[in-house]
Amino acid sequence: MPVNVLFSARPAQWPIYKPLLTKGLTEAGVDFHLATEFEPDQVDYIVYAPSGGLLDFTPYTRLKAVLSLWAGVEKIAGNATLTVPLARMVDHGLTQGMTEWVVGHVLRHHLGMDRHITVQDGVWTPAPPPLATGRQVCVLGLGALGEAAARALAALKFDVTGWSRTAKDIPGITCLHGPDGLRTALSRAEIVVLLLPDTPATVSILNADTLALLPKGACIINPGRGPLIDDDALLAALNAGQVGHATLDVFRVEPLPADHPYWAHPNVTVTPHIASETRPETAAQVICENIRRGEEGEPFLHLVDRSLGY
Ligand code: NDP
Repeated sequence: MPVNVLFSARPAQWPIYKPLLTKGLTEAGVDFHLATEFEPDQVDYIVYAPSGGLLDFTPYTRLKAVLSLWAGVEKIAGNATLTVPLARMVDHGLTQGMTEWVVGHVLRHHLGMDRHITVQDGVWTPAPPPLATGRQVCVLGLGALGEAAARALAALKFDVTGWSRTAKDIPGITCLHGPDGLRTALSRAEIVVLLLPDTPATVSILNADTLALLPKGACIINPGRGPLIDDDALLAALNAGQVGHATLDVFRVEPLPADHPYWAHPNVTVTPHIASETRPETAAQVICENIRRGEEGEPFLHLVDRSLGY
C-alpha cells in the first residue's frame, strides 16, 4: 500500500518541493502519494513547516512521523497533540549558508570594516586590525550550525571557544559546557555568535548578568533565535558601551516592529531573518531519506528530543 505524504507548509513552496520530493521518493524506491490534502486518518508522514498552519495533530491517527523543513522547532516541539517522532531539518545547504553569514559578520567586526565603509571623512588614521589569531570568538551552540561555523572560523585561525549543553571535543576549538563553561566562554569573548535553539533552558541566556561578563565593547551576532537575548538588557549594555555592536537576524517578534529601538540604534544592525534558509534541493533529499528509513524500519535522522525542546 502506498504511503501518503502530506505537504503542510507555505503554499508557495509546494510547486518547488513537489518535483523534488517526487524524484527523491521515487529514487528511494518508496511507493507513495504526495499531496497538500488528504483525509487526516490516511496520512503517514507530514512534511512540515509552521507556516502551513497545521497545529492539531489529533486527527492524524495513522501518522508515523513529522518531518520539519525548519531547523528551529520551537513552534512544534511542545505541541501536546503530536505524539509521533519529530525530525528537524539538518540540511547541507542551510549549514553552508549559515557558515557564510556568520563568517561574513565576524570578519566585518574583526576587521572594523564599518570604520572605512561608513566614514570617509578625509582623515588618515591607520589602525590595522589584529590577525584572527589574536581575536577571541565564542560560538554558543555547537550543533549542526554552530559546529560548522566554529570550524570555519577556526580554519581562518580565529581563537574560537564553543559552548554547548554536553561536552564536546572538536579539533581547533576550545569546547566548554555547563554554567561554569558559559561564564568562562563569555568572559573571554570579543565576538559572540549565538547558534542555540529556543528552549526553556536558553531563553534570555544573554541577560544583564551574562552580558556583564563580556570584555567591554564585545560584539554580539545573533542568527539563533530572538528569545535568546533579553532585549532590555542588551539595549542597556549597548548604551553603556559594555556591548560595542549587535548584529541581530532574529527577534522575539518578527517582523521586528518599525518602532522597535533596535532599528534606530547606531550600534545595532538588523537583518530580517535571512542568515540562512532551508535549500529545497538538499532538504528534499533529507526528507526522502527519512521516509525511506521509516518504511524500512531504520531509525530516523535528526530526531528532536521533545523533553529538551531541540
Ligand atoms: P542543533 O540542535 O544541531 O544544535 C543546538 C546546539 O545548542 C547544540 O550544540 C546543543 O548542545 C546546544 N544547546 C541546546 N540547549 C542548550 C543549553 N541549554 N545549554 C547549552 N547548549 C545548549 O541546532 P542547529 O545547529 O541546527 O540550529 C541552531 C539554531 O539555529 C536553530 O534552533 C534555529 O533556532 C537557528 N536557525 C536560524 C536560522 C536563521 O536564518 N537565522 C536558520 C536555521 C536555524 P548539545 O550539542 O550538547 O546538545
